Amino acid sequence: MELNENARVDTSQVEDRRGSGGGGGMGIPIPIGGGRGGIVGIIIAVLVALVGGGFGLNAATNGGGSEQGDNTSLEQKCSAQDALQQLDCRNTLYVNSIQAYWRTAMPEVFGEQYRPSKTVFFSQNVSTGCGAADSGVGPFYCPADDLVYIDLTFYRLLADQLGAQGEFAQPYVLAHEYGHHVQDLLGTEAQMRRQQQRDPQNANTLSVKLELQADCYAGAWAKNATGTADEQGQKIFKSITDQDIQQAIDTAEKIGDDAIQQRSGRPVNPDEFTHGTSEQRKQWFTKGFSTGDPKACDTFGGSL
Ligand SMILES: [Zn+2]
Repeated sequence: MELNENARVDTSQVEDRRGSGGGGGMGIPIPIGGGRGGIVGIIIAVLVALVGGGFGLNAATNGGGSEQGDNTSLEQKCSAQDALQQLDCRNTLYVNSIQAYWRTAMPEVFGEQYRPSKTVFFSQNVSTGCGAADSGVGPFYCPADDLVYIDLTFYRLLADQLGAQGEFAQPYVLAHEYGHHVQDLLGTEAQMRRQQQRDPQNANTLSVKLELQADCYAGAWAKNATGTADEQGQKIFKSITDQDIQQAIDTAEKIGDDAIQQRSGRPVNPDEFTHGTSEQRKQWFTKGFSTGDPKACDTFGGSL
């Protein structure tokens, strides 16, 4: 993968809350509502499994998600010559590419306008519209405030503890989260929550379908990513190689429910799957990538 060093990093699409300490808000608790498994990003189940602790998102003790970020230093850093050497600037550019894709694809494919969603960079803990969260939950999307949340140190954990190496794991993770945003905009997410309430026995299966669709959307972005550009029309990626795509597939495999359960030393129990097996995650990312068409991501339409 090669990024175009002439592409402008648009920091207005992220909110830097890393300096603010996070947490501790005194707002009124906002219940997450419905099942909580699928709301939060791919990796949450991972970390819950790894760390063995609570969920991180706790509606009973949360703040109201009223913190403000401060992008001043990020803006400076990301307009400098060596911006693309910086993890946070690169991730901002990935967000720019993913949103540029959906801005075009959503009207084309689904006949609906895309509404941008910011990514919040936080460190350690943060209050969100879905409750207070700490880094242990991994990256996630909150439908209540339409924001993606990530503590960028997560990537180190992904590499060191889950063995998902390679730079392209990063845009894959972000594209998965933006897949949830698209599901939110299309009403897929809300529909799925209602289905879960009607049919609690199948709550996990429904969650798996939502997650695999987000993987497939990530694949569709990956296929079209080299066509994305910044506001001045500068291409964001110079190239994306087969090896990059392999890194995304590899990451998808590493965070399959069965792989996670095995890794945590627990017996593999399909009843507890909420995100899909390694094989399924690989398959659906690949389906999105090979077709380049989000319409092909119909995980709710038939068998997985
Ligand atoms: Zn997810």
